[in-house]
Amino acid sequence: MQLKAFSGAQSRVGASTRRSTKPSRCVVLPVAQAVAGTTETNVVDGRTLRRSLNQTGRYVRQPTNDPVSQSKMDEHGVGYSTSGLVAQMRTQGNLWKEGPVTIKLAKAYGYCWGVERAVRMAYEARQAHPEKKLFVTNEIIHNPEVNQRLKEMNIEIVEDDGKGKDYTKIQGGDVVIFPAFGATVQELSDFKSKGVQMVDTTCPWVAKVWNSVDTHTRKSFTSVIHGKYSHEETIATASFASNYVIVKDLKESQYVCDYILNGGNREEFLAKFSNAMSAGFDPDTMLQRVGLANQTTMLKGETEAIGKMLEKTMMTKYGPAKLNEHFLLMETICDATQERQDALYDMVADPEIDLMIVVGGFNSSNTSHLQEIAEHKGLASFWVDSAGRIDVDSNTILHKLAHGELKETKAWLTPGEPVTIGITSGASTPDRAVEEVLHKVFKIYDPNFGGVAPKFVGAAPAHEEEH
Ligand code: SF4
Repeated sequence: MQLKAFSGAQSRVGASTRRSTKPSRCVVLPVAQAVAGTTETNVVDGRTLRRSLNQTGRYVRQPTNDPVSQSKMDEHGVGYSTSGLVAQMRTQGNLWKEGPVTIKLAKAYGYCWGVERAVRMAYEARQAHPEKKLFVTNEIIHNPEVNQRLKEMNIEIVEDDGKGKDYTKIQGGDVVIFPAFGATVQELSDFKSKGVQMVDTTCPWVAKVWNSVDTHTRKSFTSVIHGKYSHEETIATASFASNYVIVKDLKESQYVCDYILNGGNREEFLAKFSNAMSAGFDPDTMLQRVGLANQTTMLKGETEAIGKMLEKTMMTKYGPAKLNEHFLLMETICDATQERQDALYDMVADPEIDLMIVVGGFNSSNTSHLQEIAEHKGLASFWVDSAGRIDVDSNTILHKLAHGELKETKAWLTPGEPVTIGITSGASTPDRAVEEVLHKVFKIYDPNFGGVAPKFVGAAPAHEEEH
């Protein structure tokens, strides 16, 4: 691959690579040229490329906290609620009573720091470049309403049309926004060369995972990535690795560990991970030194269990004294994801809760885990991505189950009977989405319900510290 040929065909190479998921050295090699501006082919790691972006003068990776953008976010309901129902619940112990309906809001819910930051940076980019064309290389976050707002502001989301993404329409001088879950080495490198203004909203937690993968590469470890191979964040993370295999759960991790310990059927291994490993991956030689990395939105407990499994495997195979030569673990699990999961474990243990509502994008990984927790507890739990899934007149809800099935449930609420509903929302869900869902719930119980009067209750929650 030649970096200089940043044509549509080339950009589609990166995208189709993602589908075939064999981006590895063939993706990394051109980075040397991107960084050095030479034709040398020495391999330069992704961290060096990221550092070089700072020197372009066309790279922004921090919000400016511009007040005009803030007020637009408030107006569009894509930030933290400051006066609506959710904001008011925050001031009264995350509790609300409306007639026979009691609502308990999870202690940790909704927008995480990294997502709010990404949306803010997109709004600030629009404000800073009113005359320019703006593009996002993917959905900025997994929330349909927020993405729709961006489209209305003439920020184009470059969609994968099934054949990859066509970046040919993006020209030097345009503004390109990288979403919260990042962009691949190839994309960063190509856009650097193309002379666009880059707004990198990649969450620092995700960048921390990339750093750990960079470390694996520099120390000649293979990255075992706990994630979903088709998830944008994992695609980006894998692009920073030299050798990698992606395991989605404990079962796949156990398979890899068994192979490490006992060997196995090589062809079966290659077939099993054909979509989830680097090009030319050799399980017989590349699993002798492994480091763990994770998609930040996976279940923390599962990531930890996979880490322990790998550690035990390497200890058994090579002995405790040599463990550090064969296993590398860096703490990269995102607190925000974990806090939302912990809060939900608390909530589903509450005997007063009759049913759960989970609000979040249907393609949001962290939201799917919240639904999973409720389902495992055996609670009736309704996952919706917006209030549009609820029909008040027919008391019907179209909701998604954790394993992916869309289901329509009629008479999901029983007007007249007291009920306690637990509600939470994924890390890419603005508070307004929760408020709109609850508005419809209250309407089902009382058709005359006119809404909760806005009341400014003070500043939004303090942003979490930068990691
Ligand atoms: S869930 Fe965590 S890693 Fe993902 S954007 Fe939010 S803070 Fe960052």
